Amino acid sequence: MMQALRQTLEMGVKEARVADAFESILGQPQVRDLLRTSVRSERITHAYLFTGPAGSNKTATAYALARALLCPKGAKGPGGGLCGYCDNCSRIVRRTHPDVHFIEPAGMNGWLIEQIREIASDVALAPIQANIKVYILDRVDLMGVAPANAFLKTLEEPPDNVVFILMGRTRNSVLPTIVSRCQVIPFRHIPPTEAAGIVSQNTGAQPQLARQAIEACGGSISAAVAFLRASGNERVGFRAKVLKILADIDTADDWHIIRHARDLVQLSKAPLDAVRVQLEQEISANADFLEKSAMRQIEARNKRQMSAKTREYLNQTIDIAISWLRDVLVVCAGTPELVINTDVMSDIQAVAVAADVASVSRALASVSQLSGMLSYNVSPETCIDVLLLEIKDGLNGTGSAS
Ligand SMILES: [Zn+2]
Repeated sequence: MMQALRQTLEMGVKEARVADAFESILGQPQVRDLLRTSVRSERITHAYLFTGPAGSNKTATAYALARALLCPKGAKGPGGGLCGYCDNCSRIVRRTHPDVHFIEPAGMNGWLIEQIREIASDVALAPIQANIKVYILDRVDLMGVAPANAFLKTLEEPPDNVVFILMGRTRNSVLPTIVSRCQVIPFRHIPPTEAAGIVSQNTGAQPQLARQAIEACGGSISAAVAFLRASGNERVGFRAKVLKILADIDTADDWHIIRHARDLVQLSKAPLDAVRVQLEQEISANADFLEKSAMRQIEARNKRQMSAKTREYLNQTIDIAISWLRDVLVVCAGTPELVINTDVMSDIQAVAVAADVASVSRALASVSQLSGMLSYNVSPETCIDVLLLEIKDGLNGTGSAS
């Protein structure tokens, strides 16, 4: 590990700093300083465990660390030394680097033992583009005893050029056999006002708009920054469409709902087409120098990325609906000053007039449940259909949860 890292560092310490990856670690100054110091002083361990609640910026930090390790301009130069625009950096920022793997639990109840076996055999392969390979494993708190046992040997003695970054909600929710093999890095909960301030600072958006973006992104600061920076206001437009559909959902009939669901899926697919084109270009650009097996690996990963993007939109729809229902609830409860989605205040008030605390709570409960049950095998249309129907039934007092 150390030798590979040193080589990476020595390749370009002369280069001036342009963009420091660690500066993208928002809201977590202690984590940022600790990681920066470890990289600069070459005290990198082979396995990290990032613990913290959703929205504490663990994923963005994992990618920042990956950049610090892979950028050939090195992390040791004056001020950080990372370039931000070399091929390694830009691929990591776009999340398409062949040596940086992001893996989520694929089973309904968490990690599958097959996934762990796949990782174990993959770490033995040489890196495709860089000197180091990084494996980011999300939600290791959902790794049961059997997959964890299958993982222990790899986690304990990975090849020299492999770094694992595991992420979990709390230290206690991760199996002790995993925890004891990692350097644990705790992330703090970032309070809402501070989070909105960070997003404003990084995007120039008004604090209220920043809060709306954070809610639309399920509490994630870095996702909210990306949301507000998305080209052509694509995310902001998607949110507006979801809110417009919600505005008269209590009076919509089932056919309206089916049409709305189709519209939303259509809208979420347009930007995906752009992603698909970009990934295909990436493949053809690499075709000359990559082995067939590596190409297949990239193609498989691109496919996974596409389905991850689709899920991202589904999750966003659910997060927006939850945020909107919470607003209806606070209006019903007589505290309209707590509304977050103030840009659709009159719609929220109109729905609140026809509803009551019990019916909105019911709708909120069934939507929150849905977000945990979102399955990989259900079509996006079906998911959104179910989501909208649950909200309508909940508001009208005909929901199954009543
Ligand atoms: Zn770079």
